[in-house]
Amino acid sequence: MRAIYPGNFDPITYGHIDIINRAVKIFDEVIIAVSSGSQKQTLFTPAERANMIKKSVKSLKNAKTEIFEGLIVNYAKKKKASVILRGLRMISDFEYEFQMALTNRKLNPSVETIFMMPAESYSYLSSKLIKEAASLGADLKGFVPAFVDAALKKRLKRIAPFGKAK
Ligand code: ADP
Repeated sequence: MRAIYPGNFDPITYGHIDIINRAVKIFDEVIIAVSSGSQKQTLFTPAERANMIKKSVKSLKNAKTEIFEGLIVNYAKKKKASVILRGLRMISDFEYEFQMALTNRKLNPSVETIFMMPAESYSYLSSKLIKEAASLGADLKGFVPAFVDAALKKRLKRIAPFGKAK
């Protein structure tokens, strides 16, 4: 069975990696699908985000990373994936995920959304929080791989605080 794990992954964190590590043990193939047409403004381009994911999961033989555009249910159909995989952290994720899962079911009843929970230690971790912490100079060891930390520091330095672009 093939599963699609969609998201922005801006950037990938150990929370996402935890979910992927669990998923590859259950599904024959896991396609990590990076959204390229997000409403949200992202810090990294789709290609940059996909490259960071590829580097993070390169040891997992049945994990593949791709960039997608448009509706995830259409992409799932195109890829012949019967499962959309999502991670659930806190109760705060629930309402949005519930709405999205039911909307996607309406759009394509043959694709099932499955939720997985990360290890407790990652259940509060989000890309948004990581970006905020990085912009304040936090040590991100334990939250993201070292090369993601370095990419964040580099990108945020270029944007430069207080409008002083370098
Ligand atoms: P979104 O698509 O909402 O922007 P992300 O790209 O950050 O979210 O994440 C993609 C998927 O991974 C979502 O299902 C999200 O809930 C899940 N996720 C993000 N961070 C974690 C985490 N720390 N633990 C478990 N799941 C997570």
